[in-house]
Amino acid sequence: MQNDTNDFLLHLFPESESSNERASENILADDNTRALLSIHEAGHSAIAIHLNRRVIEVVVYASNSSYTQTERIPPSFEMLHNELILLLAGFEAAFKYTGDASKASIHAGIDNVRIRDLFADLSISEAEQETWLEKARADCRTLVDRYWSAIEAVAAILVKNYRMNGTDVEKTVSSARVTKTNPER
Ligand SMILES: [Zn+2]
Repeated sequence: MQNDTNDFLLHLFPESESSNERASENILADDNTRALLSIHEAGHSAIAIHLNRRVIEVVVYASNSSYTQTERIPPSFEMLHNELILLLAGFEAAFKYTGDASKASIHAGIDNVRIRDLFADLSISEAEQETWLEKARADCRTLVDRYWSAIEAVAAILVKNYRMNGTDVEKTVSSARVTKTNPER
């Protein structure tokens, strides 16, 4: 019915997709690429924890592939809003980090394909898609702001270790959130 990648929130970033932009501006040396990818995947994974979606694994490689793997939920109107938030979270985290929509978009191509596929699966018209996206984007930005210290903490570990399992993501997000909401006296 559907291919393997639909079993997970999974995305891969072939080097070739963004080679023109990288070559022309040289904005992403390898360390910066990994930092930006780490923020992107940390955005997906921290927001997944907030949405009570089980994170299986997060992987960040410098120059070939990165992904956040979560439990799969079949497409439905009930899950759509949260799924859109989850799919937008990589871009929104990268946008907050860079302040630059075009840089933040570099690694969001597969997320956008998945959003289009989801709308197609649910037969949602283009006009309705805009409404869904506007609402999801607003909520996603609020969550990315609220979880920013958690996103930075997850990203810092990804930059160093390249991968995290779901339990480690959950622990890191929880302790960052506790620190933020209940500061030590
Ligand atoms: Zn993504």
